[in-house]
Amino acid sequence: MSPHAPSKARVPAVEGWFVPDDASAALLGGRCRGCGTYSFPRAPLACPNPACRSGPAEEVRLSRTGRVWSYTDAAYKPPPPYVASDPFEPFAIAAVELEEEKLVVLGQVVPGVSASELYVGCEMELVTATLYEDQTNVYLVWKWKPLDRPTSTPSGGRARR
Ligand SMILES: [Zn+2]
Repeated sequence: MSPHAPSKARVPAVEGWFVPDDASAALLGGRCRGCGTYSFPRAPLACPNPACRSGPAEEVRLSRTGRVWSYTDAAYKPPPPYVASDPFEPFAIAAVELEEEKLVVLGQVVPGVSASELYVGCEMELVTATLYEDQTNVYLVWKWKPLDRPTSTPSGGRARR
């Protein structure tokens, strides 16, 4: 699918948290077999619903889109697994409520989008971004991208006020 064959394997930086397909990256969460409660990361042992006594949730792909529930500018270096650029550049963080599951998932917003451009209810989609690479692998994380944004214009001709 990729136009250039990558020599390194593209793997999630956090094993088992998402599927890093270029075209349809998706978070891997859990859905309780008993009551249907969703979890992210997947509840490995028991259902997060205290009224439910089901065992481990089944693994499911979560919605790739959602709406901004809260957002902020990160003016400090993020904790692992995120690797800060050097010199550190502030970025936006969004808590996005997934379209179907209504889970709130935190993530960095793609570069070039500042918190001042976000708003509660803003539609977002999941994309993958390179976190870092070593000799054999490219490690990927998910980021949130506003749906009304073109994919690859770091500094396009958008009007600014
Ligand atoms: Zn349950």
